[in-house]
Amino acid sequence: MANFTEEQLAQIKSALHRRYLELREEIRNELVHSDETFDVSQADDLRNILTDVDAALIDRQINEMRELEISEKHLMQLEFGDCVECGGEIGFERLIANPSAQRCAACQQKYEKRYPHESNPSL
Ligand SMILES: [Zn+2]
Repeated sequence: MANFTEEQLAQIKSALHRRYLELREEIRNELVHSDETFDVSQADDLRNILTDVDAALIDRQINEMRELEISEKHLMQLEFGDCVECGGEIGFERLIANPSAQRCAACQQKYEKRYPHESNPSL
């Protein structure tokens, strides 16, 4: 695990949580049944009931929520802050700006070159 201070960890944790709630809210706002509680585990059912909404957008949001969940899990297991590709540090600034980041900036660039459609789905 990357070497963060307690305070940095607390900041990352709250950035992560805030982003997660934001995404959940955005998705809920886009749903027809806006009063239903949204759960990522229902994501696949959700896609089937979505008609008028932008499915690509929802997909991106759901993917980001999943990444946030992974980050949260890593945080609990004290494996947080390490790049999944090279094992190097992702970096505090990057994590605050993008709490779902799983890769350091260099590996992310390589990843996006390798899978350009994954981060930019076009339907
Ligand atoms: Zn890396």
